Amino acid sequence: MTHHDCAHCSSDACATEMLNLAEANSIETAWHRYEKQQPQCGFGSAGLCCRICLKGPCRIDPFGEGPKYGVCGADRDTIVARHLVRMIAAGTAAHSEHGRHIALAMQHISQGELHDYSIRDEAKLYAIAKTLGVATEGRGLLAIVGDLAAITLGDFQNQDYDKPCAWLAASLTPRRVKRLGDLGLLPHNIDASVAQTMSRTHVGCDADPTNLILGGLRVAMADLDGSMLATELSDALFGTPQPVVSAANLGVMKRGAVNIAVNGHNPMLSDIICDVAADLRDEAIAAGAAEGINIIGICCTGHEVMMRHGVPLATNYLSQELPILTGALEAMVVDVQCIMPSLPRIAECFHTQIITTDKHNKISGATHVPFDEHKAVETAKTIIRMAIAAFGRRDPNRVAIPAFKQKSIVGFSAEAVVAALAKVNADDPLKPLVDNVVNGNIQGIVLFVGCNTTKVQQDSAYVDLAKSLAKRNVLVLATGCAAGAFAKAGLMTSEATTQYAGEGLKGVLSAIGTAAGLGGPLPLVMHMGSCVDNSRAVALATALANKLGVDLSDLPLVASAPECMSEKALAIGSWAVTIGLPTHVGSVPPVIGSQIVTKLVTETAKDLVGGYFIVDTDPKSAGDKLYAAIQERRAGLGL
Ligand code: SF4
Ligand code: SF4
Repeated sequence: MTHHDCAHCSSDACATEMLNLAEANSIETAWHRYEKQQPQCGFGSAGLCCRICLKGPCRIDPFGEGPKYGVCGADRDTIVARHLVRMIAAGTAAHSEHGRHIALAMQHISQGELHDYSIRDEAKLYAIAKTLGVATEGRGLLAIVGDLAAITLGDFQNQDYDKPCAWLAASLTPRRVKRLGDLGLLPHNIDASVAQTMSRTHVGCDADPTNLILGGLRVAMADLDGSMLATELSDALFGTPQPVVSAANLGVMKRGAVNIAVNGHNPMLSDIICDVAADLRDEAIAAGAAEGINIIGICCTGHEVMMRHGVPLATNYLSQELPILTGALEAMVVDVQCIMPSLPRIAECFHTQIITTDKHNKISGATHVPFDEHKAVETAKTIIRMAIAAFGRRDPNRVAIPAFKQKSIVGFSAEAVVAALAKVNADDPLKPLVDNVVNGNIQGIVLFVGCNTTKVQQDSAYVDLAKSLAKRNVLVLATGCAAGAFAKAGLMTSEATTQYAGEGLKGVLSAIGTAAGLGGPLPLVMHMGSCVDNSRAVALATALANKLGVDLSDLPLVASAPECMSEKALAIGSWAVTIGLPTHVGSVPPVIGSQIVTKLVTETAKDLVGGYFIVDTDPKSAGDKLYAAIQERRAGLGL
């Protein structure tokens, strides 16, 4: 293992501390593996290699001196476009599989199965019914749940190509529905959209880069549909998040407790684990853990339980290996997506149990405990007892928990934001927000999304960009591992607002926070949840656009994913563009091998859908470009 400059890897002090420990113990982490991958292949980085058929792999010479075509005749533009839209389709499949899981659970609940679950938020259920046009008057709850499940599953089953997915049609602004409908960019069926993307990118099919990219935008909209239904139904099932004070970073682990991390994306099991942990507290104490059981979160599963249970967040994607290195993690329970296959290898050096739970997502070296919703409580108890048993194997001499954690105020669902605004104006809750956008106290809104990548110093691009925009009075929202970065950096606090917000923004956040009884300003960064919860920001933006009688592409609203890495992040970015948002990405997607594709996504898209990609690896200039995009939108509105 080569020596690493750990401070350069992450701006998170706990991560740096653990990386130094990893170095000292010759334990390999993602950062070490990244170094061993250098130099990464230029063809792949530019999107110019194709492995779609067995005549390949084919590579196009980016400088025009070598081969210009793959064996089948595909040129650089076709190859780049096919690769990109396949990535978007994979991201869509991941989010939507999550959504299907929740929808099927709702269907089973309506049929009287799944006794370990109930509808915890009836008000949300009725609100969804209203949105989707399901009658509620005089009907039993389960009948309504059944109808909602049927409509939702219809978004995976409808075969009428011209009939858009129900959730999108009911949730976006009328103008956006019309514009995207006219362009053929409203998907009719999530599964079919993914399948059609795979089909048209098979060897010898779609070879028109523009047509391919349009297909990519259509499948990206299916990603938004899948995310939206996952979020909304999860709220009905587990409760709509409301602001709660929690904490973030590795200091949330406890020496005297059985520490159990939940990692992944889907709340179906992790929410139950949170519920039943209290029941097994005495067993943990009897095993010697005086502080009982401490559930901690990682990645988006972490955000799901942080928002609804106040469970602290240990860390975000890139540093998910590091809680094991504290020597105090008894178990990491994983579900789906963004789980590093390296976890069992690191856990081998400690007493930690890595427990996979989804039959489609197993990892060599991990223990698999199959999750069955029909026996959710039983599965959760089995897992917690495995962790309690692991506590007995902990070596107290190896425990090294960083002392640092940050207070974080989290859980700003769209409903929670509106409720806070209602404290200022009960009759017209959105009015204070609109008024402050109009008078310039709030210049615009930025939604930070996405991951971490070894290509960027962990969390630093988020923190730099957010501070620079907040100073210019831009309201900051965040989800996923972006939200994790901000929580760890202490930007989800009133103190951060006082310290970093521009005067106009500070005044607004203070007035709302005080009126809402927070005893201080709203946090500088509003935590909206996990990756699928980006749909919460869309819901808020749609309400704002409808109130102003404009489209989403008219709002001074931008998105940014400065440390994105996953196919899901590409899908999110692509639907953000499609609904009309200038969207920044800070790690360069594999498109630069094609000028045509690069121009399509960064320029032509603007004329077509209003949104476009801004590719910039420098947070400072990216911040300037996002602010300029906000000003352009303000000017368009006459502000
Ligand atoms: S599809 Fe064409 S470019 Fe791709 S690997 Fe096959 S022959 Fe090569
Ligand atoms: S933000 Fe990216 S890395 Fe983090 S959980 Fe979501 S997809 Fe995974």
